Amino acid sequence: MDDRDGLIWLDGKWVDWRDAKVHVLTHTLHYGCGVFEGLRAYKTDAGTAIFKLAEHTDRLFRSAHIMNMKMPFSKEEINQAHRDAVAKNNLDSAYIRSMVFFGSEGMGLRADNLKVHVMVAAWTWGAYLGAENMEKGIRIRTSSYTRNHVNSTMCKAKANGNYINSILALQEALSTGYDEALLLDHEGFCAEGSGENLFIVRNGKIYTPETTSALEGITRDTLITIAREQGYEVIEKRITRDEVYVADEAFFTGSAAEVTPIRQYDNRDIGSGSRGPITEKLQALYFDHVQGRRADHKEWLTLVS
Ligand code: PMP
Repeated sequence: MDDRDGLIWLDGKWVDWRDAKVHVLTHTLHYGCGVFEGLRAYKTDAGTAIFKLAEHTDRLFRSAHIMNMKMPFSKEEINQAHRDAVAKNNLDSAYIRSMVFFGSEGMGLRADNLKVHVMVAAWTWGAYLGAENMEKGIRIRTSSYTRNHVNSTMCKAKANGNYINSILALQEALSTGYDEALLLDHEGFCAEGSGENLFIVRNGKIYTPETTSALEGITRDTLITIAREQGYEVIEKRITRDEVYVADEAFFTGSAAEVTPIRQYDNRDIGSGSRGPITEKLQALYFDHVQGRRADHKEWLTLVS
């Protein structure tokens, strides 16, 4: 990943991809206190455009605020860095990663002289859970790891350290033959995937867990809007794992995962055991929006140049 041509935005400067390095005593590397974003740019007829850039930048700033990290750049500067990261690397479509992190100016939990650094990188990244799974659907399992407790880490922050919990759950799922994990909250209700929000469909209605211990997903918001505009009732509520077992359809959402159907959960087929019709319709609509094929919600797309 680090040995390639390209440019990365680091603290306001464009740095050669191979030189965008930090010191081993970088504070965030040791303690995980940092925040980040992941978003996508798509090829549209009008040119390459970033989907929901402003929403992701807003969440980055909210995450930094929660973690008490003072952003050294304005939202406009960060937005521009995202656009330029795609354009300068000549990408038609891209995954964009931004991160806010503490530097190596001090060490130890009590370090009080830490500088807040910001980076933005962009590269080409295909379907996160596999191209064929976008149609076929994935197999998931309940994680033995409980999702981060709301009073242990801050679930509204997309914070680096929160992902220890995600990685443990994902490693467990992959090593036991599944594609992804579903983590339950400390009371046993469905929270989210390791990097996705959950939706289920039952009797024509769409349900998604409240975001008490799940990330406030931007794709989740998009899907709720799209589904309601199609006349579906979308209900945010606590969901038990057996509600997912008996759902007609289920899918995950995320900027990386986009809209990925779930065909099996804990070795039980969901509905017909393949992508359901409502999932298929919403997935197609999602791709129409992100790829600029819709006349409505043009405000969700920001051209990179
Ligand atoms: N939950 C977690 C834990 C995630 O990492 C992500 C990906 N950012 C999501 C949900 C989905 O969020 P979004 O749609 O904003 O990408």
